[in-house]
Amino acid sequence: MTYTPLTDSHLDALRQIVGADRLSTRSADLDLHARDQSFHEPRPPDVVLWPETTAEVSAIVSFANAQRIPVTAWGAGSSLEGNPIPVHGGILLDFTRMNKVLNVRAEDFQVDVQPGVTRIELNKQLARFGLFFPPDPGADATIGGMVANNSSGIKTIKYGATKDNVLRLEVVKADGEVIQVGSRARKDSSGYDLLHLFVGSEGTLGLITEATLKLRPLPDKFSAVLAAFPDIESVIQTVVDIVGMGLDPSALEFLDSETAHALNLDKNLGLVEAPHVLMEFNGSSDADGVAEARSICEANGATDIRTATGQEERNKLWQARHHTYETLLRLHPGKAQQIVDVCVPISHYPEIVAFCAQLMAEKQLLGYKFGHAGDGNLHMNIIYDQSNPAEFALVKSVNALIVEHAIDLEGTSTGEHGTGIGKRTFALKQHGAAINTMRLIKNTLDPNGILNPGKIFLD
Ligand SMILES: Cc1cc2nc3c(=O)[nH]c(=O)nc-3n(C[C@H](O)[C@H](O)[C@H](O)COP(=O)(O)OP(=O)(O)OC[C@H]3O[C@@H](n4cnc5c(N)ncnc54)[C@H](O)[C@@H]3O)c2cc1C
Repeated sequence: MTYTPLTDSHLDALRQIVGADRLSTRSADLDLHARDQSFHEPRPPDVVLWPETTAEVSAIVSFANAQRIPVTAWGAGSSLEGNPIPVHGGILLDFTRMNKVLNVRAEDFQVDVQPGVTRIELNKQLARFGLFFPPDPGADATIGGMVANNSSGIKTIKYGATKDNVLRLEVVKADGEVIQVGSRARKDSSGYDLLHLFVGSEGTLGLITEATLKLRPLPDKFSAVLAAFPDIESVIQTVVDIVGMGLDPSALEFLDSETAHALNLDKNLGLVEAPHVLMEFNGSSDADGVAEARSICEANGATDIRTATGQEERNKLWQARHHTYETLLRLHPGKAQQIVDVCVPISHYPEIVAFCAQLMAEKQLLGYKFGHAGDGNLHMNIIYDQSNPAEFALVKSVNALIVEHAIDLEGTSTGEHGTGIGKRTFALKQHGAAINTMRLIKNTLDPNGILNPGKIFLD
């Protein structure tokens, strides 16, 4: 694809749409939108626009399409695979001014929102209705960014990923047309499932200007169990038994012994430096799940078991998982972290963990393994020196080996961070001929390739 370089007359036309105060070519604004939270090379856009209405988004996209100018959407920029980096420059649409909670329909357990509201702000506003939107990617992401990346996280085992919690979207297509996909009905079997075509499409098929989300009752009863095990096999047996017994945990996480060591250093938690399972229950009583979970842990050879009942105690125990990224930053000042994100069938979890451990030992790298074990989703944060190109190349090659191994184990190159720039090279291995169908869809919906070019597919 070739794109038209932005000119002063393009800028004048864009000013007509959003006004001069919501358009910027200042280098501070361009630089702020040049990088996400990943190691991918930054690239500033040529102009940043802050739309406030669907009509403005439609007018901007329609103009850009006619002129062949790239348009990249931006939420909070917290992606980890370069997803919102405007690699071909052009227009960057920052959605943070479209941040309204439009309509809480508590009796339907639904809310209509604009895409720029963050999940923390949304949940703050929903709390007085006794409701919440469960997907939790850790970062204070926007709803638009979460829907576009189909993000998930700690609570996915109970509540599903973002895709399971979206009912309807308003989408601006590449030609500027505004369409509604999905509906407000909880069940819908009408026509093609366009809703889930746009969820996870990373702003490459259309731009989300409104969403109807599913809500759940805000839990107020909590319990938690943290248990250390002699090996990863016992960890996974515990995960399988917890789910198999129908205990319905609201989180089921894995930490390796290196992560336990890091948490001891940073937070003085006094953990046994061994693989751990950390789980949370938010049932109808503060004691829900604890007794059963404890006996499952004991039966699987746990060497140390800590339990918590009530929110305050639960929060203390969860220090072991919250802010892991920040703990690692504090322990390795000046170093960068490559965050591996793969997902495999749960039965293969021990194998992928062992593969990572073996690679780290062979290549003499330091990697902290943890993740959403209940979903088979493994992360490993590899510590490296950004100023050392050889080490950076080594870390990238190690990441590639892990991703390929996960695909060989019938898993995926990314459980939750999306394809972005970083996972494009694995798309053919994972999807085979289906990648051609994906291209066909992209070319049909965005024939001029203006929407977030350089993502999902290799150029
Ligand atoms: C410390 C840390 C921990 C994290 N942990 C997790 C985790 O556990 N699980 C997880 O899933 N993610 C995690 N992430 C990644 C990230 O937070 C999520 O992917 C998040 O959903 C990105 O949202 P955002 O608002 O920052 O979007 P951005 O990064 O700004 O954009 C994400 C993508 O969405 C597109 N986009 C944005 N708005 C729109 C719109 N209105 N219409 C169409 N496309 C749009 C962008 O073009 C881009 O492709 C983590 C990130 C950090 C920094």
